Amino acid sequence: MKAICWAYTEDGLICRQPATGFDQQRGFTVCATHSASREQQTQNQSSVMTRTRPSAPSSAGGNAAPTDPPTFRNNPEVDAKIDSYIQENPKYWAYVQGMPRDRLERTVVLNEVRELDRQQRLREGVLKQINRNPDLKRAYDLLVKDLPEEQREGAIAQIARQAKRAVARTLGQQQTRGQSMGV
Ligand SMILES: [Zn+2]
Repeated sequence: MKAICWAYTEDGLICRQPATGFDQQRGFTVCATHSASREQQTQNQSSVMTRTRPSAPSSAGGNAAPTDPPTFRNNPEVDAKIDSYIQENPKYWAYVQGMPRDRLERTVVLNEVRELDRQQRLREGVLKQINRNPDLKRAYDLLVKDLPEEQREGAIAQIARQAKRAVARTLGQQQTRGQSMGV
């Protein structure tokens, strides 16, 4: 089997050019073009990071307008996590690399479905918690009373999640402060 370049092209496809070397960091073989492009990308990191979409709560760009050309940006932090996972799990990586394209595509879709399921479960859990507590329920209903009926549950779940995070942050800060004071 001839080694191919496993880097992604700008279209998000695997390059598949004959490989000229092994990229230690990325854990796969690359062609001449892609062994160089990594260095360019690293130089562009700061501009890449500032171009993230402002309002995308879920994982993928499924809601993008059909006229938008797809863009595949690299997040250096995410890349580093992927790279280290690959290094620690060479067998799994070899398995993934051996997957046919359609299987890979379906796996990506499966991850998206799972993520949506997860968000749905979180949302239902939060709403259940609120509905169990009449005082809380009244407070949240009041907050969203001016919204159209069909948007209220979603808004409540969103506010509740933000509130939870804020409380967790505050508690974390208090604990840190307590520790530094020897409490
Ligand atoms: Zn390549």
